[in-house]
Amino acid sequence: MDIIKGFEIYSPVQQINLPMFKEHQVEVFIKRDDLIHPYIAGNKWRKLKYVLNDAICKDKRQLVTFGGAWSNHLLATAAASAIFGFKSIGYVRGELVENANLSLCRLFGMELKPVDRTSYKNKQALFQHYHAADPEAYFIDEGGASQEALVGCAEILQELNDTYDHLFCPCGTGTTLAGLQLGVKKFDVSIQLHGIAALAGNFIQEDIAKFIPGATDLIIHNNYHFGGYAKTTLELISFIKEFVAKTGILIEPIYTGKMMYALVDLIKKGTFKPNSKILTLHTGGLTGLLGKLSAFSEA
Ligand SMILES: *Cc1c(COP(=O)(O)O)cnc(C)c1O
Repeated sequence: MDIIKGFEIYSPVQQINLPMFKEHQVEVFIKRDDLIHPYIAGNKWRKLKYVLNDAICKDKRQLVTFGGAWSNHLLATAAASAIFGFKSIGYVRGELVENANLSLCRLFGMELKPVDRTSYKNKQALFQHYHAADPEAYFIDEGGASQEALVGCAEILQELNDTYDHLFCPCGTGTTLAGLQLGVKKFDVSIQLHGIAALAGNFIQEDIAKFIPGATDLIIHNNYHFGGYAKTTLELISFIKEFVAKTGILIEPIYTGKMMYALVDLIKKGTFKPNSKILTLHTGGLTGLLGKLSAFSEA
C-alpha cells in the first residue's frame, strides 16, 4: 500500500574524483543508497520495501526475522517496524551478545531472542514452532531474501538518469545483484553487472541462477573477500582510510570497502576501456563500522 511505496527516498548519483581514475581514463560514479535512511540504509531498504508492503496487504502486524549479532538486516527491520507501525521480533544467531547493533535494534522496539546455531539453521521451523498460531506474524528470511527483494532492488536501474558501461555491487547472498539483473532485463538497460563477493566461496552465481534462470552475463569477482565474511586485512583498512579521507564518502570494511578496493584494483590492472563510465552501488551498512573500529585504530 501507499505508505511504503510513497516513502520518499534520496539516493543521488555522484561522481568520485580520485586522481587515479583520471590517470586511467575512467569515470567512476556512486549511487548513494546509503543516504536512503541512516538505519534502513542501502540494499536493506530496497529488499524490505515490497516485503513490508506485502505484510501490510496481508494485515500482518508482527514481523519475525533472523540475523547475526551484527546483521544490518535486523537493524533495518527494527527501524522499519518502528516507522511503519509493526511489532518486530529478531532471532539472533548464537549466544546473545551486547553490541551497538543489537542495542539499536532494541531501541527501535525489536524484541531479541537468541537461538543456538543448530536451531538457527531451520528458520521456517523456528517460525512454525513459535509463531504459527499468531495470525499477525509475518516471516522475513535472513537478509530479507525473497522475490519481493528482487523487485525492490530492480528499481535501482529504473532510477538512473544517465547511461553507464559497468555497475559494481557488493555481494553477500547475491540477492541484490539478482535484483539488479532483474532490473537490467525489466527496464532494458545496457550495462555490465559486476558482483564483488564479500564471502569466500563460489556460490553466488549458482544462487542467483535459482532466482533468475539464465543470468549468465554477470561477472562475479571472487578474490576480494580478504579472508571471508567480516574478515579484514591491514591493506583493506588502509585503503578504506585513504578513500574516506579523500572522497568524504564513508564506506565500511564488510561490503562496500571490499567493492571499492576491487574496483580500484581492476582499474589498475587495465580491465576497462578508456572512457568507460563505471557506476558503483553504495549498499549502506555503515553501522557495521562500529564493530570494526578497533581494526581502524590499529591500522
Ligand atoms: C546485506 C548487505 C549486502 C549483501 O547483500 P546481498 O543481497 O545479500 O548480496 C551488501 N552490502 C551491505 C552494506 C549489506 O548490508
